[in-house]
Amino acid sequence: MYLQINALELESNLTLLGLSPSDNGRVITCNVENVVGQTEAYLQLNILFRPTILELLEPLRLHHWCIPFSVTGNPKPELRWYHKDQELHEQEYIKTEIHESTGSVHHGCLKLVNPTHIHNGQYTLVVRNEYGEDRKEIDAHFLLPPDTDYDTGLTAVYIVVGIAGVALIGCVLMVIILKYGRNSKFGMKGSSSVISNDDDSASPLHHVSNGNNTPSSSEMGHDAVIIGMTKIPVIENPQYFRQSGSMLKSDTFVQHIKRHNIVLKRELGEGAFGKVFLAECYNLIPDQDKILVAVKTLKEASESGRADFHREAELLTNLQHEHIVTFYGVCVESDPLIMVFEYMKHGDLNKFLRSHGPDAVLMADGQHSLMVELTQSQMLHIAQQIAAGMVYLASQHFVHRDLATRNCLVGENLLVKIGDFGMSRDVYSTDYYRVGGHTMLPIRWMPPESIMYRRFTTESDVWSLGVVLWEIFTYGKQPWYQLSNNEVIECITQGRVLQRPRSCPKEVYDLMLGCWQRESYMRLNIKEIHSLLQSLAKALPVYLDILG
Ligand code: ADP
Repeated sequence: MYLQINALELESNLTLLGLSPSDNGRVITCNVENVVGQTEAYLQLNILFRPTILELLEPLRLHHWCIPFSVTGNPKPELRWYHKDQELHEQEYIKTEIHESTGSVHHGCLKLVNPTHIHNGQYTLVVRNEYGEDRKEIDAHFLLPPDTDYDTGLTAVYIVVGIAGVALIGCVLMVIILKYGRNSKFGMKGSSSVISNDDDSASPLHHVSNGNNTPSSSEMGHDAVIIGMTKIPVIENPQYFRQSGSMLKSDTFVQHIKRHNIVLKRELGEGAFGKVFLAECYNLIPDQDKILVAVKTLKEASESGRADFHREAELLTNLQHEHIVTFYGVCVESDPLIMVFEYMKHGDLNKFLRSHGPDAVLMADGQHSLMVELTQSQMLHIAQQIAAGMVYLASQHFVHRDLATRNCLVGENLLVKIGDFGMSRDVYSTDYYRVGGHTMLPIRWMPPESIMYRRFTTESDVWSLGVVLWEIFTYGKQPWYQLSNNEVIECITQGRVLQRPRSCPKEVYDLMLGCWQRESYMRLNIKEIHSLLQSLAKALPVYLDILG
């Protein structure tokens, strides 16, 4: 903003040039002062501008169906909807609702109560004020909700195919029985084998009908989503690259590591793009001959997959902090493409919490049964380190969008770092909610404004940090584990919050509540959270020795 002040003896003018709509609502303070005293006056800018549709999104099923939108304009624009080019006349069952207004930005929904197939098709939103208009279109399909009905649809297909199969086998059997006679051994054998086959084919059906994303425990839930036949596609956080654009500096130097310097040792896990291995890397650090590293592989990369890979490498090169996992470089001599990271001995934080909680004895192989449960001070120590990493990300104007314990890593001496930036994973697929076929959203970690309008900000990261605290104090439970994805969406958008975990001190739960304020500007600031956690952690001594 340029200021030009024409000073006159008794009267002054302040001329503001180069203002934009984002300056609307800003307060100008005039402060005058001389040797006798001082006084102030305020003025709020009222900038008039034409409307713009900032977002118009695919329908979401909340309590009712909602086509979310965000619009801006001053004066507040008038909204009109068209369905297949016919103007929509709003009534009780279809109407525009504004849920939140921040300055001249308004967020809302076109609410549809029980829409049917006649409501499918193109919706156009036209916004108008005296300075101009804007319009946007979106395709809406209400009859195939992404979550339950898709599975139910498949269930129906399976049932029909199953019944047809049984009927056909039955007919063949009848013919055989009629031909060979009732007492024939062959006939009896045949029928019993049909029954047992039928039983077998019934079991996948059982899985399908279970696929409502309501895991009784999140460990079991993985099967419920993948359901044997459709593997949910792994996709990047949809706004990841757009958002992180500011982090991509043109002069970023990504270190290249020679393939012969990397010796794979064993598999650590499966990532979004390929397997993750423990490896030895030679000649990476000046005074060490070799060090242990974690390498992430990208198999069968398409052109766009390769481009994403290089952008992520540049981004990771620019993110350096003691609580962000260290990125060493890439190896792109041949396929698979490789990214090299520091090795974090204890793997991802979610698994770590579970294996140091009361259910550890129940976990798979029982090898952790001798592990000691984490103490409150250790939990605070973990939380404080993640908050430190988030303070750094916020200072870099990086919005994470997918902060969760599954995306943090644990090293020696309870060192915790944020280790994953916006990539979803196969193994944690029940933590994500698929909308419209491709986009996967970690709804259980998202505030209402991110669920309803896909608005991701440092404040929405603060909400997720509150959920991470809850995960830590429940030893890695899945948030809202008792609810299906649709129920979770309804719960969060209606303003319910997670309950206080049994082993959680009141001060920490108050902090969580500070992260879960519905209005994003009411939430605690990330720096405040970090210093609160630091002082709580200091109040209790940390005994690290139990981890060996
Ligand atoms: P992606 O980002 O490609 O989805 P992940 O970060 O999810 O990959 O990695 C998958 C698994 O590999 C994690 O759950 C963790 O157990 C292991 N892993 C990943 N990075 C490291 C690391 N730096 N050190 C140790 N284990 C790691």
